[in-house]
Amino acid sequence: MIVPRDMETSKVFEAVVIGAGIMGSSTAYFLSKKLGNRVALIEQFDFLHRRGSSHGDSRITRLTYPQEYYTFLMKTSYELWSEAEAESGLNVFIQTGGLDFASKDTPAIHNVIAAAKKWNISHEVLTPAEVNARFPTITLPENYIGVYSPASGVLKASKAVGMFQNLARKNGCHLLDNANIVEIAVKKDSNGEEIFEITSTTHGIITAKKCVITAGAWTQKALDKVQLRSGKLSLTLPLKPRQVTVCYWEVAAPEKFSGINKTFPVFICYDDKYHVYGTPALEFPNLLKCCSHEGPNCDPDKRDFYPGVQEIENEVAPLVQKVFVGISPKPVFTESCMYTMSPDEDYIVDQVPGVQGLYVGAGGSGHAFKMGPTIGTMLAGFTVNTYKHFICICKFTEMVICLKLLGWFTQTA
Ligand SMILES: Cc1cc2nc3c(=O)[nH]c(=O)nc-3n(C[C@H](O)[C@H](O)[C@H](O)COP(=O)(O)OP(=O)(O)OC[C@H]3O[C@@H](n4cnc5c(N)ncnc54)[C@H](O)[C@@H]3O)c2cc1C
Repeated sequence: MIVPRDMETSKVFEAVVIGAGIMGSSTAYFLSKKLGNRVALIEQFDFLHRRGSSHGDSRITRLTYPQEYYTFLMKTSYELWSEAEAESGLNVFIQTGGLDFASKDTPAIHNVIAAAKKWNISHEVLTPAEVNARFPTITLPENYIGVYSPASGVLKASKAVGMFQNLARKNGCHLLDNANIVEIAVKKDSNGEEIFEITSTTHGIITAKKCVITAGAWTQKALDKVQLRSGKLSLTLPLKPRQVTVCYWEVAAPEKFSGINKTFPVFICYDDKYHVYGTPALEFPNLLKCCSHEGPNCDPDKRDFYPGVQEIENEVAPLVQKVFVGISPKPVFTESCMYTMSPDEDYIVDQVPGVQGLYVGAGGSGHAFKMGPTIGTMLAGFTVNTYKHFICICKFTEMVICLKLLGWFTQTA
């Protein structure tokens, strides 16, 4: 926990961000660029803990998406990641190239190609033989197509979250960890403006003019702590925390699975039978990371951390055996992680309806890490009132904020 000396004397923060995963840490950074030490980032556990969604060594980043609005947003994200790397002097992105694949009759793979064409994303559509010629350890079935994208790669997850926290701190942001927020009371100040009295377990009451909730799988629990003057906030978001299993598979020829020198790509299988993705052998030189997107719903405070045997046996192991040459039949070890799923797997990024100055970023749905800085700029933009048009458009429409509703996603390239 880093508490600058002026913390006690800072009477009212301009903005407080609750939850220091990738969404909250990047939001705090972008806010701190404008607001300096009038911002605080608060985390219930240690910074960079392993109980949420943003920890670990690798997340896939890519411009290729079946939804063209995400391809569009990712163009901005790539720029923001690279600016943050330059400012911090850290390297958190490893460009490995990426392979999206699926059987030819899978609509998502054709949507990936259409979105890449629309936004001029460099890509190659490959036959299984062409994929195998480039990556001898990948053997796609005959009825599959591959889409290779050179821009894809790996983001070093925990290092990247730490990077945004450190950049925010350099701008004066107050970083408080092991501080669980137990109540967010919405009050009026002497000028009649809304203010938030945020009660934490370790820092008493922290007062702020704006409050951003980026609490990942705990988002609903955090919203349930909002106390309006008229009583408890009644807002149920359609979010479902999901426990997923990260699997590492031993490979016989590590040099052929390495992400270095583009010998092996990050990969995603869009086939209806296999919602599976993975990264090259980077964390451990002889272990390929390959996981399922599926898993059971969970309560983030009562997880069992057990591996998802069903997903491994029914989905990941069959795909691994079908597609990769020289790989172990079972994972040699597994880790547990969490997604926060929205019904359509789109993120929720908006103002809480009816509560001026309260914002939420959530529903990462297993694909928000790469978009962290874009979501951070949006939330910071709402908070400092530079993105008013977003607020008009996405007002918890049907209880799910659809970034796709934003008019500018439909503009032509
Ligand atoms: C195994 C796995 C693989 C993934 N792969 C990819 C990938 O390849 N590419 C990609 O783009 N995305 C990927 N994702 C998804 C991505 O990592 C998540 O969407 C993203 O990290 C979500 O970040 P977040 O900030 O919303 O949530 P979190 O990282 O969970 O952060 C929320 C934080 O809020 C804190 N908090 C909650 N309640 C309180 C409170 N009351 N007081 C204070 N603090 C609180 C929590 O402790 C937590 O630290 C993957 C996720 C997993 C689990």
